[in-house]
Amino acid sequence: MTKIAPNPSFTLSSLPPEISTKLQQQVEGEVLVDGASRGRYATDASIYQQFPVAVLVPKSAEDIEVALAVANESGIPVLPRGGGTSQCGQTTGAALVIDNSKHFRKILSSDLSDPDHATVEVEPGMVLDHLNTHLKPHGLWYPVDVSTAAQATIGGMAGNNSCGSRSIAYGNMVHNVFGIDAWLADGELASFGAYSESTGRTKVLGDYVKHLVDDLKPEIDAHWPKVMRRVAGYNLDVFHPQSELPYTLDNSVNLSHLLVGSEGTLAYFKSLTLKLARLPKHKVLGVVNFASFYQAMDSAQHIVKLGPTAVELVDRTMIDLSRNNPAFRKTIETALVDANAKTVDAILLVEFSGDEHAPLLQKLQDLDALMSDLGLPGSVVMMPDAAMQKNLWEVRKAGLNIMMSLKGDGKPVSFIEDCAVPLEHLADYTQALTEVFRKHGTRGTWYAHASVGTLHVRPILDMRRDGALKMRAIAEEAAELVRKYKGAFSGEHGDGLCRGEWISWQFGPKITEALAKIKTQFDPKGLLNPGKIVNPPKMDDSAYFRYPPSYQVINVQPKLDWSAWNVQNNPVTEAVTAAGTGGDPAQGLAKAIEMCNNNGHCRKFDADVMCPSYRITRNEKDLTRGRANTLRLAISGQISNTSDRPPAHLPLATHAVKEVMDLCVSCKGCKRECPTGVDMAKMKIEYLAQYKERFGHTLRDRLVAHLPNYAPIIARIPGLPALMNLRNHIPLLAKIQEWLTGISAQRSLPVWKSTHFWNQAPLPFASPEELAKSDKRVVLFADTFSAYFENENLQAALTLLQKSGYAVHVAQPRKDEKEQKPFCCGRTYLASGMVNKAKTRLSALINHLAPYANEGIAIVGLEPSCLFTLRDEALTMGLGESAQVVSKQAQLLEEFLASEHKSNRFVPRFKASAQPILVHGHCHQKAFAAVSPALELLKLIPNANPQLIESSCCGMAGSFGYEVEHIEASKQMAELSLLPSIRKEPNAIVVADGTSCRHQIADGASREAMHIARVLEMHL
Ligand SMILES: Cc1cc2nc3c(=O)[nH]c(=O)nc-3n(C[C@H](O)[C@H](O)[C@H](O)COP(=O)(O)OP(=O)(O)OC[C@H]3O[C@@H](n4cnc5c(N)ncnc54)[C@H](O)[C@@H]3O)c2cc1C
Ligand code: SF4
Ligand code: SF4
Repeated sequence: MTKIAPNPSFTLSSLPPEISTKLQQQVEGEVLVDGASRGRYATDASIYQQFPVAVLVPKSAEDIEVALAVANESGIPVLPRGGGTSQCGQTTGAALVIDNSKHFRKILSSDLSDPDHATVEVEPGMVLDHLNTHLKPHGLWYPVDVSTAAQATIGGMAGNNSCGSRSIAYGNMVHNVFGIDAWLADGELASFGAYSESTGRTKVLGDYVKHLVDDLKPEIDAHWPKVMRRVAGYNLDVFHPQSELPYTLDNSVNLSHLLVGSEGTLAYFKSLTLKLARLPKHKVLGVVNFASFYQAMDSAQHIVKLGPTAVELVDRTMIDLSRNNPAFRKTIETALVDANAKTVDAILLVEFSGDEHAPLLQKLQDLDALMSDLGLPGSVVMMPDAAMQKNLWEVRKAGLNIMMSLKGDGKPVSFIEDCAVPLEHLADYTQALTEVFRKHGTRGTWYAHASVGTLHVRPILDMRRDGALKMRAIAEEAAELVRKYKGAFSGEHGDGLCRGEWISWQFGPKITEALAKIKTQFDPKGLLNPGKIVNPPKMDDSAYFRYPPSYQVINVQPKLDWSAWNVQNNPVTEAVTAAGTGGDPAQGLAKAIEMCNNNGHCRKFDADVMCPSYRITRNEKDLTRGRANTLRLAISGQISNTSDRPPAHLPLATHAVKEVMDLCVSCKGCKRECPTGVDMAKMKIEYLAQYKERFGHTLRDRLVAHLPNYAPIIARIPGLPALMNLRNHIPLLAKIQEWLTGISAQRSLPVWKSTHFWNQAPLPFASPEELAKSDKRVVLFADTFSAYFENENLQAALTLLQKSGYAVHVAQPRKDEKEQKPFCCGRTYLASGMVNKAKTRLSALINHLAPYANEGIAIVGLEPSCLFTLRDEALTMGLGESAQVVSKQAQLLEEFLASEHKSNRFVPRFKASAQPILVHGHCHQKAFAAVSPALELLKLIPNANPQLIESSCCGMAGSFGYEVEHIEASKQMAELSLLPSIRKEPNAIVVADGTSCRHQIADGASREAMHIARVLEMHL
């Protein structure tokens, strides 16, 4: 049998050139051999890292057949991969990694006629949520509802024998697969299904396993955990059932179940036939609040008797972390009996589902009564409402990610995170394990599947220091407890690198030997994902770690202030040290990058914004995770090579980093939606600053960056604005400009005006003195785009505010101020990597605004990307206390007016709208949760019925959509949902606050979108 080699990591050369050439010639898909591409596939959501020798992104089944043939000839191992969300290192290996998730994801056939026997056959790269979206109209679903449903592929779920929150009702993956067609290691295709009907190679393999297992029956009876949640090793118990829930209804043997949970080591799945379930028509949720964690655990065994479809735990740490996360705060508070209470130690989410609502409401009453009997009257928050339930499940699903948002090198580590014990022992087991953590100077946060005795817990360990030692010690003590309570050491996430060595501990030498024999029978050359399940390495071999003790960050002085990330944490209290004390040679930038834990949450397509570039390309490199990994490898010197070696102080200034940053539209979607808050837009500024320092700025960079400087000059020279606009009317001029600057000729440019905000008939701006006298006062920040190109928006805002009784002071330089140009937030400079110039402009603006902000006066702006620069980047540029004060007062017009409305200071009487209103939120508006105020205000217009367009980034993103090399990507982003939604409502008023969003809508849907200021003003 093939032993896996010691960690090849970054010293291993890629695929030998003759083999990569051969592959490239024979496959339609992409073959990636460069260090950065391999590095992006070197990790999953585990603590491990192993560089693949190459990556294949196949376009067809034929591509995979070619790869298997090449692997057979050359002896190069193969590692099938889906979303790469495994937590145990299953998808890391020195192999040819094959990514099924981009193209290999079709529904092949389905039989949905009888809902009780419905099946579907899919390719392995199909994502669970996408399958369920397809099934929903048929009243069906695939019920293995893993938390990573938006990322996990069916192939990966089968590879890991994944289990969902509702496994108590539906079972694990193994209970829900009818058949698998798979390539064996030698490339032969075989069908795995009912053993009784098997023929040919499948029958031979089935018979082989059966004989082995028959001989082992006493061993299996003695050592096999009798819980439903056991996923270690291969499912030998197909022949001698041991699971609480039978794998098949009639206890017959299905050979596909041998492949489920095999982690890519036995065969490469080509298609999977799945057993579907009826989608329950109704669900209700009872959230039980507990003052003691032990009590929560002890109650689970009683609660399951009520027949719930899920009982899920959220512990105190997670409750607190959710409360501190703006995206989750409101939701978690709806689950608490007293939202202000500090005493909730745990909550259990108890779900009941069925086809009738009334009996479910009765179940909630039963739960309430049960809790009273158990001494906890009034402890249940009842949630019959589907929207509330959905939000709370989202928070629960984001559990691990929320915990991972802990800053510093100590992180919650997966290695005993899914041991399963019988329910009657759950309270004692969790208490004893908590004691083990305490003994080793750490603690764990508990959550997840109380219904089946699988609680997730990850002690906080620092893998760069003493983490490996503690990991071993804790694992050994945890294992003793699991044995004492007759549980399973590996209960959900699989074996991979962290639990492979525990297979023999769990099953004993004879069964372990049988697993090795089975592996040899299926894969004699050891080509398929070597080192997983059979011949695993030690879990704590630091040669496999992503952060081994030898991990080093390059000394860098970043342009922005990242000190908030440069901290360490206390694993017991989770308190973090003061900003700047974490010992990061990159002053916090590296630690901010390292916040990405690779969980893959950014691989999503449905709701919210993150990550627009991945949504159009499905490339790992165009994903927040791919970017964070590339930055991490760059800043720790793991991917530089002779052809792409940056100067020592500019480690991010490489072509490899440029490649991943190219399609990042700086939408800040990740800042809000990435559960660990990876802020790629800010990192892009750092990268740009370094890259441009190394390679220089282009003419286009300068044209974009200096726009706020030259706009006043162009506007001032008679006739020049009209001359500039000729470019929009004479295609040849646009072509010449494209050739000279790289600004696409396909785009019209914003129209220059000779009458703009600063030279139009003077509006009565309030002087500082008048402002001081008023009790309704506001400072308006006129950004460059609004002032010179769309002054009607500023005028509308002024009219609206003044008619509503506000004294409005417009921020303009006083005579005594050094800066005499109209103020600018510096965004165009930031977008071009000119951080120092941005700082100069921002600092002038902040100095001007600070006295007003100090008096508590609102600073109101119209253009989201400009205004939010004051709340975001300005705080990381060393601008001191003034920047803090200004940021607290900076608001979009709608944020200001919505809050004034709440306090009855803004009570408009709008005319009814003759048209419906559609709202597109600017990405930065969404990132700062500033879309709801817009909707709230628009709802004040009678008959408006404003509807939010569920859209990601519009694709224009500042100058991105104007750039010749990005115009197609820009259009694709707009076509994902924004433009189709607008076309569907030809009669609607379209509200869009971003100037570039309006431009995209005009170009792509031939509709004029309006700033909210205009829409509100025209209804006055
Ligand atoms: C935050 C978080 C929450 C999670 N929650 C859950 C949960 O609720 N329940 C749960 O069970 N797991 C959970 N997981 C673990 C993981 O998401 C699941 O195991 C998931 O099903 C893996 O899917 P994937 O597409 O990412 O597979 P990958 O990680 O890409 O692959 C998983 C395994 O399948 C193999 N494989 C992939 N494709 C094939 C193929 N075509 N043929 C043969 N083998 C193949 C791989 O080699 C690998 O061994 C969670 C992980 C994270 C990070
Ligand atoms: S960027 Fe954020 S969402 Fe994406 S994998 Fe990393 S931590 Fe997860
Ligand atoms: S800023 Fe936007 S495009 Fe860039 S990584 Fe984050 S979500 Fe993706």
